[in-house]
Amino acid sequence: MLDKVLIANRGEIALRILRACKELDIKTVAVHSKIDADLKHVKLADQAVCIGPNPSPQSYLNVPAIISAMEISGAQAVHPGYGFLAENADFAEQVENSGFVFIGPTAEVIRVMGDKVAAIRAMKAAGVPTVPGSDGPLSNDPEQLKTTALRIGYPVIIKAAAGGGGRGMRVVENEQALVNAVAITKTEATAAFGDGTVYMEKFLQNPRHVEVQVLSDGQGHAIHLGDRDCSLQRRHQKVLEEAPAPGIPEEARQAVFESCVNACIQINYRGAGTFEFLYEDGCFYFIEMNTRVQVEHPVSEMITGVDIVKEQLLIASGRPLSFKQEDIIFRGHSFECRINAEDPVTFMPQPGTIIAYHAPGGNGVRVDSHIYNGYRVPPNYDSLIGKIITYGRDRSSALSRMRNALDEMVIDGIKTNIDLHADLVRDEAFKKGGVNIHYLEKKLGL
Ligand code: ADP
Repeated sequence: MLDKVLIANRGEIALRILRACKELDIKTVAVHSKIDADLKHVKLADQAVCIGPNPSPQSYLNVPAIISAMEISGAQAVHPGYGFLAENADFAEQVENSGFVFIGPTAEVIRVMGDKVAAIRAMKAAGVPTVPGSDGPLSNDPEQLKTTALRIGYPVIIKAAAGGGGRGMRVVENEQALVNAVAITKTEATAAFGDGTVYMEKFLQNPRHVEVQVLSDGQGHAIHLGDRDCSLQRRHQKVLEEAPAPGIPEEARQAVFESCVNACIQINYRGAGTFEFLYEDGCFYFIEMNTRVQVEHPVSEMITGVDIVKEQLLIASGRPLSFKQEDIIFRGHSFECRINAEDPVTFMPQPGTIIAYHAPGGNGVRVDSHIYNGYRVPPNYDSLIGKIITYGRDRSSALSRMRNALDEMVIDGIKTNIDLHADLVRDEAFKKGGVNIHYLEKKLGL
C-alpha cells in the first residue's frame, strides 16, 4: 500500500482526496499557494508545503515545485485531482521518471487521449461508437474537404485535435462556409494550443451529454459504474448532473458500457476514467475520454456504493480491482448541484469572505465542500466552492431531497448560484428528465 500521498490540488477535491487517504491510513501532504494556506485540507493534512505565489502557473501548475515538495516530504505518490496537472502527460512522465507514482494512467495513455484524433482512432479500433466524421486530420485541399463534408452531411463541426474546455470548435452549415471555416479553426488552434491539427464531425443538433464511469487496474481487469447525464451546461461547463441518465433504452446502455470496458482492457487503462458521449435518438457517439477523477464522480458513488477515489489509491498501490462487474449493484438515483461563487445574473466569479455558512443535511444528503465560516474565497481560481449530492431510492425522491437541501443551504457574504439550482430542480422539463445540452442556455435566454 502507498504510505504517503501528495495532493496536487486545492478546494473540495483536495479535501475529498485527503478523506479517502485517511480512510486507507495513507499519510497526506498538502501543497498550496500563498493565499491558500487556510484551506481546510491544508489544516487537516499530515504535512503542508507552500509551493509558490497565488497565480496557478507559479504554484498548482509549477511542476518542479511539486516534485521538490514530493522529495522534501517523502511522499511516494501524487494525486492530481481534476484540472491543473491532472491531464498533463509531461507531468505524469516527470513524476514517474523521478521515481514517484502518478495516481492515474500512464503518460502514454494520457497523451493519446489528449489528442482527440488519436483518441477517436483508438476508440474506433476498440469498438466504441464514435461520431461520423473525417478519418483523421483534415487536409488543406478544398475539394477533399468538400467531399468529406458531403459524405458526413451538413451541418458539420470542425474541431481542434488539441482542443479542450469547449474551445477550438466551429460549426459549418453549408459548403460556401467550409473552406474558410477550416482555415480559421486551424489558425486559432495553432495560436491557442500550439497545434493546428483539425478534424471534422457530424454536428449533432440536439444531443444529451451522457458519460460512462470506468475503473481499470492496468492488470487486465476493468468495470463500469454506469452512466451520468450532464446535459445541463452553460458555455460547455456542467452545472447539475445525475446518475443514472434517465430514459435510455437498456439495450443501448448495456452495449455502450460493454464497449467502454473492452476499450479499457485494449488500451490497458489504469485508474478511474470517463468516456464522454453525445446521445441522440437512441445512439451514443464518443467525443472524448477524461483520464482523471471528475467533479461529478459522487453521483456514481451514490448509486453503486463504490468509493472512486479510494479505488484510485488502491489501483496506484498495485492492487487489482476490488470489484468484479457482477459485484456492482446499481440502486436508486443521485443528483449533484455544483455550487459556484458567482453572480447569479452575470455569472462572473464572486470572490470574498463567507460570513455565515450552514450546510444542508438529512437522509441522503452529502456535501463535498471545503468552505467554512470566515473562509475567504480567493479570486485566483475556479469558482466552484462545493457540491451538494443527494441520493434517493428513485429519481423523484433524490430530486425532492435536493430541493430541500438547496432551500436549507445558507452561504452569506458572497453571491452564489444556489437560487439558479433551486429554480432548476423545480423546472417541469428537467423534472421529467432527458433535456438536451442546449436546454439550460435557452432557459436562461442566452
Ligand atoms: P472539449 O474537450 O473542449 O470539452 P468536446 O469534444 O468534449 O470538447 O466537446 C465539447 C462540447 O462541444 C460538447 O459537450 C458538445 O456540447 C459540443 N460538441 C462537440 N462535438 C460535437 C458534435 N459533433 N455535435 C454537436 N455538438 C458537439
